[in-house]
Amino acid sequence: MIPGPVEISPAVRAAAADPPPGHTAPRLIEAFGRSLELLREVCQAEETSQPFILAGSGTLAMEMAAANLIEPGDQALVVSSGYFSDRMAEILRRHGAAVALVPAPVGAAPALDEIRNALMRQGPFKALFAMHVDTSTGVRVDPEPLCRLAREAGVLSVFDGVCATGGERFALEDWGADVYFTASQKAVGLPPGLALLVASPRALTTRSLRQASPPPLFLDWDSWLPIHRAYEERRPSYFATPATSLVMALEVGLGELLADGIDARVEAHARAAAGMRAAWEVLGLRTVPHSAAETGNTLSVLFYPEGVDAALLPKIAARGVVVAGGLHSEIRAVSFRIGHMGYAVTRPDYLRRTVEAVADALRESGRPVDREGAVAALLTPPTTGRAPATDPAE
Ligand code: PMP
Repeated sequence: MIPGPVEISPAVRAAAADPPPGHTAPRLIEAFGRSLELLREVCQAEETSQPFILAGSGTLAMEMAAANLIEPGDQALVVSSGYFSDRMAEILRRHGAAVALVPAPVGAAPALDEIRNALMRQGPFKALFAMHVDTSTGVRVDPEPLCRLAREAGVLSVFDGVCATGGERFALEDWGADVYFTASQKAVGLPPGLALLVASPRALTTRSLRQASPPPLFLDWDSWLPIHRAYEERRPSYFATPATSLVMALEVGLGELLADGIDARVEAHARAAAGMRAAWEVLGLRTVPHSAAETGNTLSVLFYPEGVDAALLPKIAARGVVVAGGLHSEIRAVSFRIGHMGYAVTRPDYLRRTVEAVADALRESGRPVDREGAVAALLTPPTTGRAPATDPAE
């Protein structure tokens, strides 16, 4: 139950375990083409947008966004909500951008007014970059108003959905966003190994108009466009060998994700998150995000209670559940993280076992715990995916 790589479904595992097809095998072409179509659906992107499926991790998707949109001397605005915002800023600098950060205290999303001010008073910016959910803080940023501000300022908007896509609503077309990217090992529900990115027509045009030297060959959208278009038209093609086994699994995973529509899947994440947070509250665990509105659906980032530290984690692991330690430098020693995304949100038994393991480990650490109350809170989640205002178990 770490925030990625996550547990995967039996069907995804079976698809990944089949003998690997060649990159021109009919079954690979069908799976690739279908996955591109499904990816547009997950990101609610227009027909003229271009999804990309590459072998790589989320960091490769970050690199790809920067490499295609940023030329040396461009200015980029990074809306900072945690550890991965800093990584995005560093990647942009290495692509030659002058980076301005809109900071926020750990656990908060930057205020919209400060982002508006930065867009108006600094710059001119080529693009705005934000984390949809930052995995180090659990903070969720609302992309819709950021897209609006970016469009008003004539700036591209790019969102890191690595810890969000499939578990949070994102409407690339309706919001006028330009790039949304993720990786396979989180709410998409696959093993690690695929970088997934959708680019708007405006983003694609920005790449084709760039003056300076082209992006590195592997990262260049223009390298991949003919191949992706061919796969979508169900024709064989080759530029660089895709991760064919993972693409077979991707078609299955995205099919499961979208079985009842993207809204139902996001709602399942919201319900799981609401249940988990209700349980944490009963157990006396405080969340790092400052407010319900700033809390992502896909994971819980929690402070250790008084008298408890990272020695809690092996006690949880001894009960068969693996959770993750803190990541953000300011709260690394005092926080831990529990993922609840992808296949796990379809498994109430996983969620329950996690709550029970945390409760029992806390008890072993000398904390008074209401294990039954926590499980009851998990099972009767409030109707919203956001943290409950009151403890429903009391
Ligand atoms: N962005 C976010 C929000 C992430 O959570 C992660 C990974 N945890 C990354 C980017 C980087 O992804 P990867 O580790 O797959 O390179």
